[in-house]
Amino acid sequence: MLRMEPFAYRPARTYEEALAIWSSAEAPMYVAGGTDLLPNLKHGIVHPRTLVSLAEIPGGITEDGDTLVIGAATKLHAIATNATVRALLPPLARAAGLVAGPQIRAMGTIGGNVLLDTRCLYYNQSAFWRGALGHCLKADGTWCHVIGGPKTCVAAQSSDSVPVLLALDASLRLLGPEGSRTLAIRDLYRFNGMDHLTLQKGELLTAIVVKKPAPGFRGSYQKLRTRDSIDYPQIGVAIAGTFDGAVPSALEIVIGAANPQPKPVRGLEAFLGAPLDDAAASAIADLVHKQTRPQAAVHGDPAWRRQMASVYTRRGLLALAAG
Ligand SMILES: Cc1cc2nc3c(=O)[nH]c(=O)nc-3n(C[C@H](O)[C@H](O)[C@H](O)COP(=O)(O)OP(=O)(O)OC[C@H]3O[C@@H](n4cnc5c(N)ncnc54)[C@H](O)[C@@H]3O)c2cc1C
Ligand code: SF4
Repeated sequence: MLRMEPFAYRPARTYEEALAIWSSAEAPMYVAGGTDLLPNLKHGIVHPRTLVSLAEIPGGITEDGDTLVIGAATKLHAIATNATVRALLPPLARAAGLVAGPQIRAMGTIGGNVLLDTRCLYYNQSAFWRGALGHCLKADGTWCHVIGGPKTCVAAQSSDSVPVLLALDASLRLLGPEGSRTLAIRDLYRFNGMDHLTLQKGELLTAIVVKKPAPGFRGSYQKLRTRDSIDYPQIGVAIAGTFDGAVPSALEIVIGAANPQPKPVRGLEAFLGAPLDDAAASAIADLVHKQTRPQAAVHGDPAWRRQMASVYTRRGLLALAAG
C-alpha cells in the first residue's frame, strides 16, 4: 500500500480565501480535483505540509461579449458536455472528453489540467521504484535517465486541453500575492521539465478566457495513446483555423506531449490563401515532422510518436479542408 505523508487539509470557498490560507500555511500546495496531485503524494514525489483545497470553489462556463470564460474549477466532464463549448469550440470539448476516463473527468478540473505537473516514466513511480534507480534530477537525484546526463529534465507536458488552448490563443486569469494579472497561455510554459510553469509562487489560476471563433472556424484534436479507455497522450495534435471552403486564412497547429513545453508549429503562413489540398497537407505534415522531437520520457518509441504527429496533422488538415 502507498501511504501519504501527513498534511493539514484547509478548504477555501473563494480564490481570495485560498490565497490568504496559502500565504500563512506551512509548505502549502493547492489541490483541485486531486487526480494528479494525490497520486504524486502517494509516490512521495512532493511533500506539502498543507493542502489548500479549491474543491468548494464553483466552476462554470459563461459568455462575456466576444469571449467564453471558463472557471478554473470547471470539471473536464462539464466542458466535454457543455452545449456552448461543443457548438463554439468543438476541439476543446473533444480534448476534455479524451482525458483519462469518466471517473477522472468527473473529478479533474480544467485548471488542474492546464497546470498538470510534467510526466516521465522515471518520475511517476513510487519512491521505492525511483530509489532503486538512484532517483533523478526532477526528484531527489542528480541524473536524468532519459537524456543520460546531469543537466536537463525533459519530462513531458501531458495535458490534452493545453495544445487546443494554445491553438485557440487562450489567456489565463491569475491571482497571486502580487495581485491579479492576465497571461497568454503561450507564455505559461517553459522548456524545463523541473520547472515548466512561469507562475509566481502561490499564484492561482482562476479562469481561462477564449475568444469566440470567427465565422469559418474549424478545429480538431487528435490523441495518440495506448489504451483509449484511460491513458495520457503520447502525442497530441491540435489544429485550429479559419476556412472559406478548403482555403485557410488562418491556421495554427500545436503539438503536445512531446516535451516540457507544448510546441506551436512555425511556418504555416506560407499555406494561407490557397486550397489545402493533398500536396499542401503533406507539406505541412513534413514541417511538423521536422519540428517535433519527442523525448523518451513517455511511453512509445519517440521516432514512431514523431511520425504519428505528422500522420495526424495530415489527416486532421484534410478533414478540416473538406469541412
Ligand atoms: C489514471 C490517470 C489518467 C490520466 N489521464 C490523463 C489524460 O489522458 N490526459 C490528461 O490531460 N490528464 C490525465 N490525467 C491527469 C489529471 O487527471 C488531469 O490532468 C486533471 O485535469 C487534473 O485536474 P485536477 O483538478 O485533478 O488537478 P489536481 O491534481 O488537483 O492539481 C494538479 C496541479 O495543479 C495545481 N492546481 C490545480 N488547480 C489550480 C488552480 N486553480 N490554481 C493553481 N494551481 C492549481 C495543483 O497544485 C497541482 O500542482 C490522468 C490522471 C490519472 C490518475
Ligand atoms: S526527464 Fe529525466 S530528470 Fe526529468 S523526470 Fe524524467 S528522468 Fe527525471
